[in-house]
Amino acid sequence: MTAMRLVLDALVSVVLAPSCAACHELLEHPTGGPVCGRCWRSILPLTPPLCDRCGDPLPAWRAISVPLARCPRCRRARRFVDRARAIGAYDGVLRAVVHALKYEGRRSLAPRVSALMRQRGGDMLDGASCAIPVPLHPSRRRHRGFNQAEDLARHLRLPVVAALDRVRATATQTGLPAAQRHRNMRDAFAPTRSGRSLEDCVVVLVDDVCTTGATLEACASVLKAHGVREVRALTAARVVTPPR
Ligand SMILES: [Zn+2]
Ligand SMILES: [Zn+2]
Repeated sequence: MTAMRLVLDALVSVVLAPSCAACHELLEHPTGGPVCGRCWRSILPLTPPLCDRCGDPLPAWRAISVPLARCPRCRRARRFVDRARAIGAYDGVLRAVVHALKYEGRRSLAPRVSALMRQRGGDMLDGASCAIPVPLHPSRRRHRGFNQAEDLARHLRLPVVAALDRVRATATQTGLPAAQRHRNMRDAFAPTRSGRSLEDCVVVLVDDVCTTGATLEACASVLKAHGVREVRALTAARVVTPPR
């Protein structure tokens, strides 16, 4: 760290006394961004073994007994998303970071979150031709001023393609059970012109949180209907179903 940076840090600390967006302690190095180093370091990956498809943690015995380990949900239902991964579970610091990015407009968090997605996503980006942010409905985007999924997609070092439009404003998903979320999402997305030209491609859907997977599934079904060969999903966080 340069001397100038240290002086600046000291000055900003005294004048503005900014606190970490996650733990709310005073920031020691405010020029380094709105989340403290300790918080970044405390974001843990999901504990393997993971379901090969959706990335949910599995009970340890399953990984040993089955070569391609799958969770009960993925074994039951055919899914449009071929593989999904996230930095970690949607709680604690990671949840606070996502909230700060999304609801407090702390867009400067996006590059660091994306870097973690690249790092923890393993081979999710290998051989993919583009990143596709999950779109917001235009009215919500106008209200928020930006789409957090776009911000995250922009730093994954893949071409970003706006392949989907959100054509139907969906009631807020919060509090809805999984089955209703899936129904709620039906017909919510349509391909854009660039979305129709991804035939035979491998693509990576990008979003901030995967809750039940309903949104990602709806996006993936539209893409597959238009010839996309493989749809992967990389999110910052994931609501984890406890292993059974
Ligand atoms: Zn902190
Ligand atoms: Zn699974």
